[in-house]
Amino acid sequence: MLFSDLGLSAPILRAVAAEGYTQPTPVQQQAIPAILQGRDIQAGAQTGTGKTAGFTLPMLEILERQAIRGRRHVRALILTPTRELAAQVEESVRTYGKHLSLKSAVIFGGVAMGPQLANLRRGVDIVVATPGRLLDHVQQKSIDLSKVEFLVLDEADRMLDMGFIHDIRKVLALLPKERQNLLFSATFSREITELASSFMKDPVQVEV
Ligand code: AMP
Repeated sequence: MLFSDLGLSAPILRAVAAEGYTQPTPVQQQAIPAILQGRDIQAGAQTGTGKTAGFTLPMLEILERQAIRGRRHVRALILTPTRELAAQVEESVRTYGKHLSLKSAVIFGGVAMGPQLANLRRGVDIVVATPGRLLDHVQQKSIDLSKVEFLVLDEADRMLDMGFIHDIRKVLALLPKERQNLLFSATFSREITELASSFMKDPVQVEV
């Protein structure tokens, strides 16, 4: 299978080609078409499987296709367990979206709020965040999550291991009901399965 068989448009395919990828990985082959169809996805995928491109490429495609008029606002939210992963995922968003007009920001704790605030004020379409610091920004009203169309929980099992379940539930309560949900996890404990079934709509199961 080729990347060009997956339904992605030319500016995204050019960015993928520039990375030297020749073929989509198994998780990408399964996840990308289902996400482009608007389905929720529950994927069992470890780091190294190409899961980041698996959710980032179709997310960029959907956001770019359904361009909005008027002020830029947060349309996609990606939650990760650690600052390192958040930074890495946002780097991927920039790389794969380099020929698009979408803007992104990364939000994590342990650093000053100021620069993140300035970034958010400039207007962004995509936010990659760790849950605790995201809620700090919500509290300070520096971010509005009421128009999020697309939610990704990346490494959901690690987020639960790190005690983020309450923060995740608080974030979920701030999002519009009508949205597309993607959940990636290396393992599926009872807790993850319960969390997933509490908010996902008839998800496509992806196993690699
Ligand atoms: P991930 O599982 O998302 O952490 O990705 C692991 C690594 O695989 C990253 O360094 C990606 O740049 C790389 N990668 C992702 N998709 C592909 C692909 N289709 N072909 C080759 N490498 C890829």
